[in-house]
Amino acid sequence: MTEIRTNWTLEELEKIYHTPLLSLLSQATALHTKYHDRDEVQLCTLISIKTGGCPEDCKYCAQSARYKTDVKATPMLSYEEVMGAAHQAIDSGSSRICLGAAWREVRKNRPFAEVLEMIRGITALGVEVCCCLGMLTEESATALKEAGLYAYNHNLDTSESYYPKIITTRTYQDRLNTLDIVENAGITVCCGGILGLGESVTDRLSMILTLATRSRHPESVPFNQLSAIAGTPLENASPVSNWELIRTIATARIALPKTVLRLSAGRLEMSHEEQTLCFMAGANSIFSGEKLLTVGNPSIDRDEKLFRLLGVKKRPAFKEAIS
Ligand code: SF4
Repeated sequence: MTEIRTNWTLEELEKIYHTPLLSLLSQATALHTKYHDRDEVQLCTLISIKTGGCPEDCKYCAQSARYKTDVKATPMLSYEEVMGAAHQAIDSGSSRICLGAAWREVRKNRPFAEVLEMIRGITALGVEVCCCLGMLTEESATALKEAGLYAYNHNLDTSESYYPKIITTRTYQDRLNTLDIVENAGITVCCGGILGLGESVTDRLSMILTLATRSRHPESVPFNQLSAIAGTPLENASPVSNWELIRTIATARIALPKTVLRLSAGRLEMSHEEQTLCFMAGANSIFSGEKLLTVGNPSIDRDEKLFRLLGVKKRPAFKEAIS
């Protein structure tokens, strides 16, 4: 049985990835059962508290101010609006509320003070709060921690070598620095990527390698499939096959046994059977609600049906702990 390791090599991950599929699923499921409740999946809800108008140039993103997309920059949501959305999400079974803002970085300003209030308000409801606000300084990370923030999302998106083809307004090292700051502040790390940016399988495995060789594995890794957005440089990108997604998740489960793996954007196009295979491969969280930032997501009713079909329970909050 593979133990929790931080000395993985790319060759090892490639070998795992190319294992015959049924054996790969068996290995992944054995580790999943050892470290998680096999029949539990966490529901998360992402609330976009500040949509659009982002100065960054991520080539996949509808919210970048550099591309002509259907997304218009909107003002930040009020405390009341965010609390209303959080209550609704919790009533539907979400145990994790993620607040996303289309910012390059956190600044010491009024909107940040409002986010801290939102974190306090939602944490008091007994659920995990995760924020995705861009780059952080040590000071802003401490303020987030003091407000009760449980997790911080900061995705690597892809491999270090492919990253400059997707984003030029910041570096991979900038991302890693923020991850260190999050970790040092005692906040759990949520960090994952996107499949379908034109990257190779090796790029995907390199990103998993970066995460699996950190001295502390991230507590949460989301896997998104690109939703090609009209007006962005990646509008004509080809979709990734589900088999590649399933193999990627299974490889991540083996390399990161304790991590919660989140099947994120791209579920709208997936059948219940395809999602079930992702759960078998090691995914144990989905995003709930009809919109995921700017893209569509399955309806709550459709997800409820899937959970009933599989006899899956909703994972409660605060099950993962910093090891
Ligand atoms: S992915 Fe985030 S940082 Fe990049 S353009 Fe979109 S909102 Fe901005």
